[in-house]
Amino acid sequence: MDFNFNEKQQELVSYIEKWVKDVFAPIAEEFGEQDALCLDMVYALGESGLMKTMIPPEFGGTNDDNGTHATELCIIRETLARLCPLAESTYSVTGLGSYPVILAGSEAQKNKYLSGVATGKTVFAFALTEPNAGSDALRLSTQARLEGDEWVLNGRKIFISNAGYADAYTVFAKTDDAPGSRGISAFLVDADTPGFEVVRKLSMIAPHPIGEISFSNCRIPKENLLGERGRGFKYAMQTLDVFRSSVAAQLIGFAQAALDKAAAYAKTRQAFGGPLTQFQSIQHKLADMYMEVESARNLVYYAAWRKDLGNRVTKEAAIAKLYASQVAQRVAYEGQQIFGGYGMIKGNPIELLYREVRPPAIYEGTTEIQHMIIGRGMLSGDFIDEEATKVFW
Ligand SMILES: Cc1cc2nc3c(=O)[nH]c(=O)nc-3n(C[C@H](O)[C@H](O)[C@H](O)COP(=O)(O)OP(=O)(O)OC[C@H]3O[C@@H](n4cnc5c(N)ncnc54)[C@H](O)[C@@H]3O)c2cc1C
Repeated sequence: MDFNFNEKQQELVSYIEKWVKDVFAPIAEEFGEQDALCLDMVYALGESGLMKTMIPPEFGGTNDDNGTHATELCIIRETLARLCPLAESTYSVTGLGSYPVILAGSEAQKNKYLSGVATGKTVFAFALTEPNAGSDALRLSTQARLEGDEWVLNGRKIFISNAGYADAYTVFAKTDDAPGSRGISAFLVDADTPGFEVVRKLSMIAPHPIGEISFSNCRIPKENLLGERGRGFKYAMQTLDVFRSSVAAQLIGFAQAALDKAAAYAKTRQAFGGPLTQFQSIQHKLADMYMEVESARNLVYYAAWRKDLGNRVTKEAAIAKLYASQVAQRVAYEGQQIFGGYGMIKGNPIELLYREVRPPAIYEGTTEIQHMIIGRGMLSGDFIDEEATKVFW
């Protein structure tokens, strides 16, 4: 058992830190808070080589571990979130949208899209959620009908990150009346396809490019079916199996940033004749924040490590995401509290972190859904260690 990052992983952290300092942070500073995709950041991420970490070598990437690389993904997301949230979201949304292509794409589809993702030239979106199907994604109603050599798509998707900026969308739609997930297939839709429209952009609590899209008799070639017909929902869930732990890693990055900023401020802010750190209640607050970030980090990398070993990590990823999300919200709250009135001023980085930690408690499975996954799995016996129960129960 080894809880340390290996040399390559430590180098990756230092490499990202340097890119943030020299390139990403100045771009983010200039861009400010906008509900838009920062194209300079897209290109800079492409130049940095970080986008390549998601893509297999034969398509211009550096990911040579059969598409898993969950630990590397977590390291990248944690480090970017800690230092530059704009770079983090720019990196991860295209990763989420293009991962199903890595998972299930044909050679032609991989050739068409993946080298562009690797170099930061192709922006992707992942389109699952609908106005009447969020947590209950199986109830989606977007239809795809096969007519000759074309699929005809009709329906709406909401809360689609990168809507209006993506070059390509991975879209999940109903192709059959088969029960459960078997009637759902995945498709690749280029942004310039007639019948595809960005209905509106949405403004979120923390800056994010996101919106609602629609398909009105949107015709795409038959070859744009991704993987096998009827397996689209499975690809979506397999994608989330990898990305869910990395959402938790992102939350750890936010929490660590809040802790670092609050601790630094507490050391210098004077009250009652000394720094805030002279008060035991502030020391305890910081100690609790530190303890919680450390424990959540262990859950995150445990889930990623198991994923990289080839295990199914539904339970571990749900626990990591649920706990990291609770921790990040508590730590951001307490961090802002330590800043007093200054923490309430817009533009103070702690105030942005307080807002940044909210959306991840919703996307890729809400907190309540993670509870449900863990609770149901445990009660049905799926997550219970048989040996342990023999001894202790
Ligand atoms: C910033 C942001 C980015 C996003 N990006 C994307 C994207 O790129 N692509 C995409 O497809 N989607 C995206 N989403 C959508 C996101 O995945 C959904 O918002 C999420 O799945 C919840 O769906 P909903 O909003 O419809 O809430 P609902 O499903 O309506 O849930 C409302 C509330 O009810 C609770 N609830 C629902 N069902 C249960 C249950 N069985 N038991 C207990 N409680 C329950 C929920 O936890 C929640 O608190 C994004 C969302 C946000 C906020």
